[in-house]
Amino acid sequence: MIDALGTAEQKRRWFAGVVERGEIWAAWSGEPQSPKPGEDRRFGTTVAAADGGWVLHGTKAFATSATGARWAILLVDPAGPGGARHARGTADGLLLLACDLNDPTVTVDTSWWDPVGMRATASHAVLFDGTFFPYDRVIGEPGSYLAGQWQTAFVPHYAASFLGAAEAAYDYALAYLKHQGKSQDPYVQQRVGRMAVNIDTGRLWLRHVAGLWDEGRLEEARIAGSRARHLIEHLAEETVHHCIRACGARSLVRPSPVERILRDLTFYQRHDNDDHILATIGRAALGESFDPSFHKP
Ligand SMILES: Cc1cc2nc3c(=O)[nH]c(=O)nc-3n(C[C@H](O)[C@H](O)[C@H](O)COP(=O)(O)OP(=O)(O)OC[C@H]3O[C@@H](n4cnc5c(N)ncnc54)[C@H](O)[C@@H]3O)c2cc1C
Repeated sequence: MIDALGTAEQKRRWFAGVVERGEIWAAWSGEPQSPKPGEDRRFGTTVAAADGGWVLHGTKAFATSATGARWAILLVDPAGPGGARHARGTADGLLLLACDLNDPTVTVDTSWWDPVGMRATASHAVLFDGTFFPYDRVIGEPGSYLAGQWQTAFVPHYAASFLGAAEAAYDYALAYLKHQGKSQDPYVQQRVGRMAVNIDTGRLWLRHVAGLWDEGRLEEARIAGSRARHLIEHLAEETVHHCIRACGARSLVRPSPVERILRDLTFYQRHDNDDHILATIGRAALGESFDPSFHKP
């Protein structure tokens, strides 16, 4: 994002930090606006113009790599809470603010992150209590991230991650079933066949999407990325379930990796809503207007 939208001076400053001091960057948008049952806190930020820059108040959720990262690019909307993903309107004036996470006004709440899966990572809640951003910490023009459709470049990575889970389950299933001498079982053969074809399909789709980007066919690449994201979510989920059914209950007993793969995949697939992605694909096919970035209705 810095490379695409930042100034030459910002690139010099921040890339030097990455290369010379190993500084880690993250990007945070998530500000879900509807509280879940029993949730008394509200997420959301407000950003106001101040002398020489912007001031930020409020809380973000799903702040991946908080406590590990040194910098976060905050996607915030001067029109009101919601970031980019959960903004009620179009977020036309969306700002990208480079936040030094050592700033004393930034607090990480590590109590919120207690998920079913992805426990080896962290996506905490983070509080901003009057954090000041001078203008040289603003990346790009207001709205340029959405206008340039930069989020669409990230969409295929979800599919690649899901496929990695499927491949791991497949490898485990093959070794497990061969070890148990169950390769002659016709039901096992069917399930292994389905797993193999699912993985081939996922790989072919990713290669197709990568080819479109490489050939500069950007419009096609953007929607193909969402199509791949949608399809591979289901292929991966099905593959893990074939593994479990073919191998049996002990495949879900630790130290088998399958119980973790199942939990991690279940959770990571919720990062963007598949129903909305599929509706976006349908809207595009029908010639209706659609949001290729955050799949908003
Ligand atoms: C492991 C993980 C890591 C993440 N890391 C990051 C990160 O680094 N940076 C970041 O910015 N975010 C991150 N996220 C957040 C993620 O992108 C979503 O914001 C978050 O998952 C939304 O969760 P939600 O519970 O609000 O469910 P949602 O999927 O938003 O909503 C659930 C339901 O609400 C419905 N719905 C959604 N919008 C509307 C609407 N407008 N009106 C009516 N119904 C609606 C959907 O159809 C669905 O049925 C991460 C999420 C996960 C799971």
